[in-house]
Amino acid sequence: MAGIIDGKSISLQIKDECKDKVSKLKEKGIEVTLAVIQVGEDPASSVYVNNKKKACEYIGANSLSYQLKEDSTQEELLKLIDDLNNDEKVDGILVQLPLPMHFDEDEVIRRINPDKDVDGFHPINVGRLSIGEKGFVSCTPAGIIELLKRSNVEIEGKECVVIGRSNIVGKPMAMLMLRENATVTVCHSRTKDLHEVAKRADILIVAIGKPRFIDDTYVKDGAVVIDVGIHRPDPDSKKLCGDVDFDKVEPKASLITPVPGGVGPMTIAMLMNNLVNSKF
Ligand code: NAP
Repeated sequence: MAGIIDGKSISLQIKDECKDKVSKLKEKGIEVTLAVIQVGEDPASSVYVNNKKKACEYIGANSLSYQLKEDSTQEELLKLIDDLNNDEKVDGILVQLPLPMHFDEDEVIRRINPDKDVDGFHPINVGRLSIGEKGFVSCTPAGIIELLKRSNVEIEGKECVVIGRSNIVGKPMAMLMLRENATVTVCHSRTKDLHEVAKRADILIVAIGKPRFIDDTYVKDGAVVIDVGIHRPDPDSKKLCGDVDFDKVEPKASLITPVPGGVGPMTIAMLMNNLVNSKF
């Protein structure tokens, strides 16, 4: 039976560390402020935005909310970003994605000052990560590194297989594991024999976007398995599942993240961590 990596409690530890740092900054008269922009009223996005505001409140940071109408223009959004870039009181700017279809997301991401890009999506921050310079790192993969380290998983010298190569999860994940001196393989939809490659992994990180796709046949005995996926298997189901078939994989793994309560809570905690660390 595998040990469970408890993302809920690790994310709380991180938020509590952020809270301490914010209160120390406040003693010196320094405030920390996140600006959150939402375009339209997509219910899922509203939930994410609210959770980010609640996390700011928890750590003692200020959050400024900007709600643009669904039919607002690219120019209006860019103008708002310019204003926030120029506002010295704002430390972090977050545009909730996805944006409505008529927006050019790449241009929006590039418009955010890289030193306020707490999501770590700006090409400058992606470049900083790839050459090992300090910068903001995409929150979900940064959270996975914290999950591994705080669960005492040794990364150096280990075979790590990342399944998925998206810009927000798979690619930065691979760069971070490389930075931790793992031997890293990245798989994607054109990978020839996914079973054979995945079974090499001491640490298997799954960000494939397909419910319960990875079962025990992909997993080496004793592997550490990190499940990034979040799915509602059917619209009526209250239960969430991941990209990993937990019931089949859990007996084979040495450690595994559950869904919910694994990687999910880490994303917002690392957003707070990025926000607070922008002051240091
Ligand atoms: P994505 O952009 O859809 O990327 C999926 C990746 O999986 C792609 O690189 C794709 O390959 C690869 N893939 C698809 N089918 C495959 C197959 N049969 N064999 C091998 N590789 C395959 O997804 P994402 O944004 O990275 O997200 C991945 C999952 O994580 C989703 O379930 C998402 O909901 C979840 N997620 C969770 C959090 C969190 O906070 N916990 C944050 C972000 C995402 P190609 O590149 O060749 O198409």
